[in-house]
Amino acid sequence: MPLLDPALWSGKASIGTWTPPTGGTAPVVEPATGDVLDVIGVATAEDVQVAAGRAARAQPAWARLPYTERAAVLRRAGDLFTEHAEEIRQWLIREAGSIPGKASFETVTAAQECYEAAALVSRPLGEVLPSAEPRLSLARRVPAGVVGVIAPFNVPLVLGIRSVAPALALGNAVLLKPDLRTAVSGGVAVMRVFEEAGLPEDVLHLLPGGAATGAALVSAPQVRVISFTGSTAAGRKVGAAAAEHLKRAHLELGGNSALIVLPDADLERAASTAAWGSFFHQGQVCMTTGRHLVHASIADEYVERLAHKAAQLPVGNPDKEEVALGPVIDAGQRDKIHALVTASVDGGARLAAGGTYRDLFYRPTVLTGVTDASPAYAEEVFGPVAPVRTFTDLDEAVALASATPYGLSLGILTADVMRGLELAERIPTGLVHINDQTVNDEAVAPFGGVAGSGTGARFGGAANIEAFTETRWITARSAQAPYPF
Ligand code: NAD
Repeated sequence: MPLLDPALWSGKASIGTWTPPTGGTAPVVEPATGDVLDVIGVATAEDVQVAAGRAARAQPAWARLPYTERAAVLRRAGDLFTEHAEEIRQWLIREAGSIPGKASFETVTAAQECYEAAALVSRPLGEVLPSAEPRLSLARRVPAGVVGVIAPFNVPLVLGIRSVAPALALGNAVLLKPDLRTAVSGGVAVMRVFEEAGLPEDVLHLLPGGAATGAALVSAPQVRVISFTGSTAAGRKVGAAAAEHLKRAHLELGGNSALIVLPDADLERAASTAAWGSFFHQGQVCMTTGRHLVHASIADEYVERLAHKAAQLPVGNPDKEEVALGPVIDAGQRDKIHALVTASVDGGARLAAGGTYRDLFYRPTVLTGVTDASPAYAEEVFGPVAPVRTFTDLDEAVALASATPYGLSLGILTADVMRGLELAERIPTGLVHINDQTVNDEAVAPFGGVAGSGTGARFGGAANIEAFTETRWITARSAQAPYPF
């Protein structure tokens, strides 16, 4: 039987078992064709309450299991992502509009996230502390309890599993709320893998839904930590609600990342690097290169090469043709992209490539002559748009790169690596890549943005321990402590 057999999940959520939730169903739509592939159950606040209660009851026994058994479940999950990669890839292509290479990146990374999470389990649990008293004093990591994971549509599998896997490994129960538009590849796939991997009942629940379902996760008293990936606007609301309920929220938000191109950069390669940064997955990536800052002496050649590349990239249905770009997720997203491009052109920017669309297929677009007042330069577009702006010296490059509410990723192209590193020191971002574009992710690396991009590195490697555990101070004496009264 296929892992993702719709007979198991069609019209359902997973709240202990696969069951029709109280919010009815939502269509699972293929953006490339508009076809309805199936329907998924919509979970309401009521369903979230039931799931949170069940998760809280199941969590202590899961945390008490020998660490070797928790690690084994995570390793099996990693193996299952590999064994069922082809089937999951197909959903990532059809439901999320991914090209096959991006879909493969997701399944490979999902497996890697599970293996890394399995390895977390055997790390030391804390430290022995000095104490002025005759006692043993320890700082010990304990699970947070129930963790709520809220994920977006764009890289649905990775952005869910990168929180689900480490949170489970560290002894937590998890409520996963994928975006309704990608609830199969970002939700059903994760749930089914852990079911088959032998995760005990009620330790993971799948609650597809919209903002109200997410808000219910944040307010559920049993949920102690929220791991949110999405827009800055929604993240602000989640952070405020979490503060009200006195719980921790890890917020991974939007970006408008810069790629700085110094005069000594290899321009032949730069067109491909830059195109990948702006056009990978139709620009629907938080780390997308949203601003190309290019030294004035090479800007004409850079634009010419990038525009040539953009004009040649095939755009179409990734399930049927070999394309570089698939569809954007829906008409709302496409209209937002086009409005930002159009307003920029109306304000004086020039289209060097693209700026047109058919259905949900937006042509890779290169804009020149942009200023602070060009919306496609100043705002996060979340589409395949590469605005190019020039600078004349390094101070100006620093000022332009830093002039954004966001702080996610930064790329610098230069033959002088040390100069690139020194430049990066002056620009506040969570991620820096010298001689690479801005879109990079590895399960072992700390990931996260600063300022409007979020609350810092809360994913990847050791950052996961910080994110999904609490620290308990424990002391022990051989005899009862004496006191003056
Ligand atoms: P979004 O914020 O609208 O939705 C993200 C998720 O949050 C969805 O599951 C949604 O249902 C839920 N949600 C929305 N409002 C909520 C609320 N008030 N309370 C609780 N949950 C709520 O984001 P989107 O437009 O679907 O995704 C694109 C955005 O995500 C972009 O801004 C992008 O930069 C960002 N993103 C960031 C990262 C990162 O790691 N920093 C990664 C991918 C995407």
